Amino acid sequence: MGSSSGTAPRHVSTKWRFQYRPHALSTLIRPAEARSRQTQMWRMRSTPRSRTHRYAARPGATSSTEPTATMKSGTRFSQRGTGSRLAKALFAQTCKIAATLLASGFISQTSDDQNTRSMSLELCILASGSAGNAAILRSPSGVLLIDAGIGPRTLSQRLDGTGVNLADISALCLTHLDSDHFSPGWTNTLCRLEIPVYCHADKVASLALRCPDLLPLIRPFQDERFSPIEGLKCEPIHFAHDRLGSHGFVLDGFSYRIGYATDLGRVPSYFFDRFRDLDCIALESNYDPQMQADSGRPWFLKRRITGGHGHLSNAQAFAAIRKLLDRSRRLPDHIVLLHRSLECNCPDLVQTLFSSDTRIAPRLTLAQQHERSDWLRRTQRPPLVGEQLSLAL
Ligand SMILES: [Zn+2]
Repeated sequence: MGSSSGTAPRHVSTKWRFQYRPHALSTLIRPAEARSRQTQMWRMRSTPRSRTHRYAARPGATSSTEPTATMKSGTRFSQRGTGSRLAKALFAQTCKIAATLLASGFISQTSDDQNTRSMSLELCILASGSAGNAAILRSPSGVLLIDAGIGPRTLSQRLDGTGVNLADISALCLTHLDSDHFSPGWTNTLCRLEIPVYCHADKVASLALRCPDLLPLIRPFQDERFSPIEGLKCEPIHFAHDRLGSHGFVLDGFSYRIGYATDLGRVPSYFFDRFRDLDCIALESNYDPQMQADSGRPWFLKRRITGGHGHLSNAQAFAAIRKLLDRSRRLPDHIVLLHRSLECNCPDLVQTLFSSDTRIAPRLTLAQQHERSDWLRRTQRPPLVGEQLSLAL
């Protein structure tokens, strides 16, 4: 892991800690409730995907009057040792107290729980580059795989430590069918796990020809929005890549918007409208023009890559992201650079160029070919003064 460059994306934890201040607590909690809390442990039950909130006494401040509760969002709860009416009343009171403490800044958020799931969208780039592309998008209702350009075994290894495994994948969404985005070696796994494959209608025939066994699983999409998993809208955007083109996606759901675009060829004018106001921008930054020109690649390959139907250079991607930020009403949590060429690009060059914009630098992640990224999820970092000024201008 550790593929992020610059500042690593922060894991937003759902753990909260009471900072023990007896005088402040005594103004919020009535004595009878404080007494009853000495022997109570609360637990909310809900679905396995629900988010867990833990409220625990701060170490070193273990007063018998401190509340200790474990709660999960959900609809049912139980209490050890007392009746359910009393449990409900006390739980409601605990929630009220927690909300008050939260609003007053009495509770601080910690960032030490990397296994905690967000209730929103989270993106993890498993592989990015001409040797294979794959990313997973986790939502409370399922996991979407975007491209399958590395084999199932490699992908399964890359998933280690993410909390996701192959069987959790609810759907596969393909940008296009180049071998670095879809490997036919996936056919057996997709059939065995019955994973639907979303593919643009123009490419269905080609996919079915290559992998006839996949036919029952193919779900063609046109240029309109579709929903590969419940609660997630996927808006395809066409890009000029080679003869048939490729598609990027705006993935919108659970109060989070992620734009994923690779193999663009060039940046179309409509890109700036469709990719506005995202929480996470993932865009390719493929090559450095000088390194491309100096490489030993044949001229036709250089022309294919740089001629408007191949990939974006660092400068093109940088200009596109800056223009996007100029037009957006807020800054994203993450800016992820995809599909960096191993032969004709250099991470230091990319880092230096993109970090020259103070809006981009603290949000930057360079996706890697052979390592997965951290989970890219909602952050709660307040904007820097410079960023506020940039937005105001
Ligand atoms: Zn590609």
